[in-house]
Amino acid sequence: MIIAIDGPAGSGKSSTAKSVAMQLGFVHLDTGAMYRAITLKSLENSVDYRDTDSLKQLVDSTEMWFEGVLPENRTILDGRDVSKEIRSDEVTKNVSDYCAPLVVREALVEQQRKIGERGDVVCEGRDMGSVVFPNAELKIYMVASVEARAIRRQKDFEKLGVTKSVEELIADINERDHKDSSRENSPLYRPDGSVLLDTTDLTFEEQVQFIVDSARELMK
Ligand code: C5P
Repeated sequence: MIIAIDGPAGSGKSSTAKSVAMQLGFVHLDTGAMYRAITLKSLENSVDYRDTDSLKQLVDSTEMWFEGVLPENRTILDGRDVSKEIRSDEVTKNVSDYCAPLVVREALVEQQRKIGERGDVVCEGRDMGSVVFPNAELKIYMVASVEARAIRRQKDFEKLGVTKSVEELIADINERDHKDSSRENSPLYRPDGSVLLDTTDLTFEEQVQFIVDSARELMK
């Protein structure tokens, strides 16, 4: 079974998908981490996102995989654990530009489908139910108000010892949402056949339970 979770930045997809995967014994596929890893490598090698040839060369010469037992899910880029670096401010600010070119999307979508072929996957991103797995058995579109998302992000940053104002985070989220929804290739939108899950007023446990229950219902 494939559970495809899509939604805008900060809607809680990653933590939710991870918890759902743990409860069901599924694999967790964090596709945002893959786009972040390509962004990190491009920045490290000074490859501009508009330089299609160099970007293609970089993507073609990249090996990426996930390691660890949930809740740990480490992202390995060319043999290096980059799980922390891919969450940096610099990568977050640039990822919407680097994930948009077709050369990047085609290569990563192919890898994502290969992982999906093995079955029993909870995947999350922006185009899971629309482009990568249009036949997913369960599609969830997660949303939350921009204020709620900013407050959640603020708490995540606090854990890392970083102080950010809610206003600054709202501006960052709005910018990323805009870029993700308006880009030409695989823009973010609510896919056909998806269940809308608004988590603004839900607890984390409630949102996880909703998806787990929906999946178990389908498996009966
Ligand atoms: O989910 P996360 O915030 O880690 O994703 C980082 C970025 O990667 C998103 O802002 C989006 O630009 C891009 N992304 C994408 N398609 C996906 C997953 C993520 O374009 N399937």
